Amino acid sequence: MTRSAEVVIVGGGVNGLACAYNLAKRGMKDIVVLEKGYLGTGATGRCGAGIRQLWGMEENIILAREAVKIFENLDAELGFNTFFRQGGYLMLIFDEHEYETVTKTIPLQNRLGVPTVLMSPEEIRDFIPGLSTDGVLAGAFCQTDGTAYPYAVLWGYGEAARRLGVDIRVMTTVTSVASRVGGGFEIVTTDGTYHAPRLINVAGARTRDIGAMLGIDIPTEPYCHEIAVTESLKAFLKPMIISPKKGFYFSQSLRGEIIGGVGDENKESSYATASSPDFLFRFAKVLRDTFPKLGKARIIRQWAGLYDMSPDSRPILGTVDGLDGYYHACGFSGHGFMLSPIVARLLTELITSGTTSIPIDNLSLARFKSKTLTRDPYVVG
Ligand SMILES: Cc1cc2nc3c(=O)[nH]c(=O)nc-3n(C[C@H](O)[C@H](O)[C@H](O)COP(=O)(O)OP(=O)(O)OC[C@H]3O[C@@H](n4cnc5c(N)ncnc54)[C@H](O)[C@@H]3O)c2cc1C
Repeated sequence: MTRSAEVVIVGGGVNGLACAYNLAKRGMKDIVVLEKGYLGTGATGRCGAGIRQLWGMEENIILAREAVKIFENLDAELGFNTFFRQGGYLMLIFDEHEYETVTKTIPLQNRLGVPTVLMSPEEIRDFIPGLSTDGVLAGAFCQTDGTAYPYAVLWGYGEAARRLGVDIRVMTTVTSVASRVGGGFEIVTTDGTYHAPRLINVAGARTRDIGAMLGIDIPTEPYCHEIAVTESLKAFLKPMIISPKKGFYFSQSLRGEIIGGVGDENKESSYATASSPDFLFRFAKVLRDTFPKLGKARIIRQWAGLYDMSPDSRPILGTVDGLDGYYHACGFSGHGFMLSPIVARLLTELITSGTTSIPIDNLSLARFKSKTLTRDPYVVG
């Protein structure tokens, strides 16, 4: 059976559902979301849930700042508790190069309205008793950063979208996509075919595969990242702790668990998402080095998911020349959850009015034609 829709969205992750909600809120009708598994099957359901404005590039700081403004009012907007908490982010600085960078980026963040402050090792020890400052030269702390519960953000957007008439179809795999003669797209799924004038490709690490069906070369690569969770501990840690140099992050959940991850520079690109004992050892070491008193804490869970890495670790957003009605958002690396509220809003502006309130030209696929790519110094993992 062939159905028609105004917009077909491929991917029921946070970006797909946030786009669906924003488009429906703008009055668009006949929106269909196609998800091959359950909502949150992809990276969204496996993420570390960090939301930070502690970035080094102006573009990332602005996008994250605008996303935080949306997160601050998201529960009221969606009528859903997303467990957004502004416990702050504390970035640990371990060497002179990082120190030099942070002394340049804090004034930039402040100028853009992000209230980051520099902390000495003594101030860090007073702030978070038990945190080891061995080798730490300083810390950058932003109080308005935080965390949210990824499934709640996803469900909140999904429920609000459904109330506005969006048709969300789970367990429905898109098997082929093609341009139609005369315009629009044919989207074939395991549960029927759709014709639509607009297609939003937000299939996470599989966005490149959907793009390839239309002849688009999206240069992203999947990388497995793992997370471990300890038993519940008495509350002692409000901010998320991160180190760009050592590639780790930790936060304490409302249930008291320490949730965190540490990257592996030697990992090769793959769609495999198996959990590994090797990760557990590396996680246990950085956790113990950072919080020596947690040396005997038990790890009770671990999981893995895919980072969708672009060549410069920055998102790929917008349209593709010559393909009217096609939009994508991918390549988020390890920060697509925190940006999703603003990305969805910007894509919605682009689709409904042809322009965006924040320029996204620098994030277009076309930037990869240039040989010089810029990477944010605060990409973790
Ligand atoms: C371990 C880990 C930790 C992370 N930590 C953070 C963090 O702290 N902060 C942060 O901001 N980000 C973090 N991220 C990144 C973040 O999770 C992602 O950038 C974000 O969730 C991407 O959302 P999305 O909706 O674009 O993609 P996804 O959530 O991956 O959703 C894409 C969906 O498309 C579906 N799909 C794929 N192919 C098809 C098809 N053919 N047909 C139908 N459906 C299809 C998939 O099943 C999937 O559900 C982390 C990621 C991982 C793996």
